[in-house]
Amino acid sequence: MSMPRVMLLGILSFISTLLTVAGAAEPTRPNILFLFSDDLTCQAISAYGDTRKLLETPNMDRLAKEGMLFNRCLVTNSICGPSRATILTGKYSHLNGFYNNTNCQFDGSQQTFPKLLQANGYATAIIGKWHLGSEPTGFDHWHILPGQGIYYNPPMNRMGKQVKHSGYTTDIITDLSIDWLKNRDKSKPFMLMTQHKAPHREWSPALRHLGWDHDRKYPEPETLFDDYAGRSKAVSDHDMGLDRTFTDLDAKFKPAPNMTEEQLKEWNAYYEPRNEAFRKANPTGKDLVRWRYNRYMHDYLACVKAVDENIGRMLQFLDQEGLSENTVIVCSSDQGFYLGEHGWFDKRWIFEESLKTPLMIRWPGVTRPGSVNQQIVSLLDFGETFLDIAGVRIPADMQGHSLVPLCKGETPADWRKSLYYHYYEFPVPHRVRPHYGVITDRYKLVHYYKPDVDDWELLDRQADPLEVKSFYKDPAYAQTVKELHAEVDRLRREVQETGEPPRKAYGNRPFEGEPKPVQK
Ligand code: CA
Repeated sequence: MSMPRVMLLGILSFISTLLTVAGAAEPTRPNILFLFSDDLTCQAISAYGDTRKLLETPNMDRLAKEGMLFNRCLVTNSICGPSRATILTGKYSHLNGFYNNTNCQFDGSQQTFPKLLQANGYATAIIGKWHLGSEPTGFDHWHILPGQGIYYNPPMNRMGKQVKHSGYTTDIITDLSIDWLKNRDKSKPFMLMTQHKAPHREWSPALRHLGWDHDRKYPEPETLFDDYAGRSKAVSDHDMGLDRTFTDLDAKFKPAPNMTEEQLKEWNAYYEPRNEAFRKANPTGKDLVRWRYNRYMHDYLACVKAVDENIGRMLQFLDQEGLSENTVIVCSSDQGFYLGEHGWFDKRWIFEESLKTPLMIRWPGVTRPGSVNQQIVSLLDFGETFLDIAGVRIPADMQGHSLVPLCKGETPADWRKSLYYHYYEFPVPHRVRPHYGVITDRYKLVHYYKPDVDDWELLDRQADPLEVKSFYKDPAYAQTVKELHAEVDRLRREVQETGEPPRKAYGNRPFEGEPKPVQK
């Protein structure tokens, strides 16, 4: 018996309506906003709950409150350029070719996530610090600081043309980002990388923030006077200590470059009386380290304060434009940083403060507000995450894992339990010896192997959260040491770094006793 024609037409019309509705309701692909800073460490972000309570960061805290905070996002080579290259490619330094800041230039012809997003219909832009030597590729628009960039009135490079700007660099990068968002091709989803120079050395504050801390005496980290006893020579023989490496620019005995007369006047009005008091008191030994620590905290944290304010401006702009709901915000840094721990500033080491980098992801409807993720994730994972968010196929040769399942509150059963790490740059600028190792939830096995050391150390974050001891030779740890040796060997095979790195991986400066490289 056939169906009455009217009924059939009715059913067909109903199906067609369903299809139309489904078509209309098909979600548009989310925008991606990457809010990135240079040398921003978790201890300076209140959402991470540092016990020293160094700074309130209400805008980053808002991202954590409305999204997911990752408590163990680790880097694979704790230094600026290499981290950036790893984010773009989703590959370790030995595969993307960018090992160090000294003699590397990013090969922009290789596969990167911005190129893949651009090819798949995204409007792409990078604004701010690039720091990879070559010109950006894969971006519809780029407007970058040359090299490290400067803090005041920065010259910049806009699509190959030199341009001048007036003002404070962190504010300018935000202004330019908002301008691009206003004028973007609105027929496409966007991927914008807003990359601050701050709070990179020499930590020059916005003039409006001079004196923001009312000459606060900062709580000291427990390891400010670490004596490195019982550790490898690699750990004690560094050149990044508050007791030995602090320059006149770091101390603000010399003003930052390129200020106008008016700006310089404001600068001097804050620093000069305090510098004069320093000269009169002429502190030495531990008192000198303490003075430097407090000056450093005033300056570094003021830089972060401006970053946080500018993140607030970006969030406000998204709210005003109705973009917040369909924009995934990923807020992070190229590594962590020492705020006096072990007596240091700077980064590089496998120790926690520079190994761990901030990561907050706000993805409305996906990340549960106020959630905290404890898994080992890495900036090696960012590229794949962005592709996954955009629904773009992830190439098999990328070495991370998409964080999308974690954002949804699901941890895949085979999520990584360990991460491989390798730092190369030596001897300049901070005489941190090359080292590689494996990191797990609890342990780190590390090998300082060049040029005048061959030392293994075992760190146990549970027994020694400050990381001031090595348990490598402790018989109670023999089995752990054996297992971690096997694990680091396995990881080296997995990430395809089994051989000796090329000489150029360490930079172009000779090691002590090594003949100078031949100039070609
Ligand atoms: Ca950096």
